[in-house]
Amino acid sequence: MRLIERVFRRFEGWIDPFKPLEDYEPPNRLVAYVWFYVAQAKWAFLALLVLGLLTALLEALVFSYVGQVVDLLTGFESSGEKARGWTGLMEQYGGLLLSMLVVVILLRLLVIALDALVEEQTIVPGFFILMRWQSHKHIIGQSLSFFQNDLAGRISQKVFQSGMATGDMMISLLQIIWFITVYAVTTAGVLFALDWQLGAIVVAWMLAFYFVARYFIPRVREHAKITADTGSGISGRMVDAYANIQTVKLHGTEKSEEDGVLNATQIHRKEIFKFTRILTMLRISANFVSAMAISLIGIMVIDLWLADQTSLGSVAFVLAMSLRLRLLLNRLLGNLNGFFRNVGVTQNTMELIAQPHGIRDVPDALDFEFRNGEIRIENLTFHYDRPEGALNDLSLNIKPGEKIGIVGSSGSGKTTLIHLLMRFFEPQSGRILIDGQDITKVKQDSLRQYFSFVQQDVQMFHRTVYKNIAYGMPDISKAKVEAAAKLANAHEFILELKDNNGATGYDSQIGERGVKLSGGQRQRIAIARALLREAPILILDEATSQLDSNTEKVIQGNLLEQMEGKTVIVIAHRLSTIAKMDRLIVLDNGKIVESGSHDQLIKTDGLYSAFWKKQALH
Ligand code: ADP
Ligand code: MG
Repeated sequence: MRLIERVFRRFEGWIDPFKPLEDYEPPNRLVAYVWFYVAQAKWAFLALLVLGLLTALLEALVFSYVGQVVDLLTGFESSGEKARGWTGLMEQYGGLLLSMLVVVILLRLLVIALDALVEEQTIVPGFFILMRWQSHKHIIGQSLSFFQNDLAGRISQKVFQSGMATGDMMISLLQIIWFITVYAVTTAGVLFALDWQLGAIVVAWMLAFYFVARYFIPRVREHAKITADTGSGISGRMVDAYANIQTVKLHGTEKSEEDGVLNATQIHRKEIFKFTRILTMLRISANFVSAMAISLIGIMVIDLWLADQTSLGSVAFVLAMSLRLRLLLNRLLGNLNGFFRNVGVTQNTMELIAQPHGIRDVPDALDFEFRNGEIRIENLTFHYDRPEGALNDLSLNIKPGEKIGIVGSSGSGKTTLIHLLMRFFEPQSGRILIDGQDITKVKQDSLRQYFSFVQQDVQMFHRTVYKNIAYGMPDISKAKVEAAAKLANAHEFILELKDNNGATGYDSQIGERGVKLSGGQRQRIAIARALLREAPILILDEATSQLDSNTEKVIQGNLLEQMEGKTVIVIAHRLSTIAKMDRLIVLDNGKIVESGSHDQLIKTDGLYSAFWKKQALH
């Protein structure tokens, strides 16, 4: 038992799926992409290759025994010794028969056991997980726009699929396809040794098979990729409906969402038909080739026997070999199906996973050095992926410790501006200097740690309240977390929380994306998180929009007290929130159109004053 345990452990520990891998870019061409991962487990795959070869050779050997046994028994019979039974047989052929038994039982079992161990104990858990893990590590480093351009459900599905598809593809390549190739070559070799015409038929058979495969396989591969793609289209559509379930129910559009999925499924189904038609044709053609070849071989070997050029044993052996070869070729087709399906899926997942990171540190990036929080924005232009819009040639200087309020109608570019400040996107032109350092020239992590940021759409993790507030600060003290929650006016309501599993207060789970909290509660937790971070630049993007004005005032008072001497940027629709800031910036169409204190802007009688008058009426 101990030995078995040790053997299992030895194979299970062969690949370390979590070994650190610094800053890598997966290649985005299929062979290079697969090799990138396979190379990390190359010895295991090599073992699979060698064991495949051994299995195939042993198989061929075992089949040659059929002929040998027939010949040996005919010889034994014709020498008139049969009456002596086992004793006579063993006397004459004991050694040979025993050696056959050793091969059939011991050797073959050993090779098969090793093969199974490498596949099931090493590659399946090790390689599958290695690939998923590394794919995830690469994906999580992708830029914000990468995630905005795709569905989270689709991305995670592909990361998950990647290891399995590529692993299975490699296993079938190394085991079955390789096995069959070796088997075919040995069959041809053995038959050549018997008679060159027999060998020639096998070679012709293989060639015909090759041409059939060459015609069909590019089509199989192409259609496998399309089916994989239309398949993930279905799951994308489903995830989209699940994630927006409330809107679906409100509009009573279950039916039309169903139709959406139905539509995607029908497209998928049509593609499957095209795909499987090719598979069916491939199977029929290949079997036709095999049937012709086997019949020819049969006729030929009988012909040889009639001409006394070969023994009965050889006839048995040749026929057995050929039938076995046909069986294997059929299995090969089945596996080619799986293999090319996996190639298709691998290619499909590769196209997502192997995208280079959108925003990368320059090669010799230094750590950002914070001094006093001075921000210079010079001629910033950014249109997302469009020809125009968002920000146009915007310049702005923010002094250290200055408190800035940003106003502007929705879509005027406020959120875009602060996203660029934290380098969530790269500007098309212009630059941003913080404390004299161009933010595109420093390491992203080192820059972002100096920001506390409350987003417009607050993001919550499906974890406890405590973990949501102390996010990114695992060693912070409980007292500090509670103090931050108190400043954000969140402590009281947090104490009253209770989740489905009976956990209460800070330990309660808050549901996926915080769905179990009110909008104002989510905002207060986000503010607590930002406060706890104690970063020297604070940015609030409509962070108190869902709170009543009294709560908002209290929190804002607390915030500004905490942020004494630090740089603060506040975006707000409710102008009373920001009227007391040092300076107000009015954005319109991606440009700064007004700038000054509240009193100055009211006097200017421009956009701000118009906004103010409108709000004062309520
Ligand atoms: P604000 O915060 O002032 O309401 P935003 O900065 O969010 O405005 O948006 C400015 C413009 O950029 C809008 O026209 C908006 O449609 C566009 N925009 C915002 N986010 C994206 C995005 N991720 N991709 C493409 N366009 C975007
Ligand atoms: Mg916004």
